[in-house]
Amino acid sequence: MADCNETLRELETFLDGELTDDARAGIHAHLGGCTDCLQAFDFHAELRIVISTKCQNDPMPADLMAKIERCFGADLDGDGQVG
Ligand SMILES: [Zn+2]
Repeated sequence: MADCNETLRELETFLDGELTDDARAGIHAHLGGCTDCLQAFDFHAELRIVISTKCQNDPMPADLMAKIERCFGADLDGDGQVG
C-alpha cells in the first residue's frame, strides 16, 4: 500500500485521472484509512473545481498558485507552524 508521501505525490496525477487502475486503487485504500491524506485530496479536488469554474477563460495566476501551494505545504508539514 502507498504511504503518505507517495500518496500526496500522486495527488495531482490522480486528480488528472492519469493514474493506472492499480495506482488509483492503492490511493483509494490509503485514503480510506488516512484522514490527513483524505483532507489533502478533498482540498485539492475542491480547489480544482473552483479554479476550473472561475478561471475557465483565464490561466491561473502564477503568484496565486504559489500562495496556495505555500499554504498547503505549510499545512502538510504538520508541525503546527504556519509561515
Ligand atoms: Zn496518508
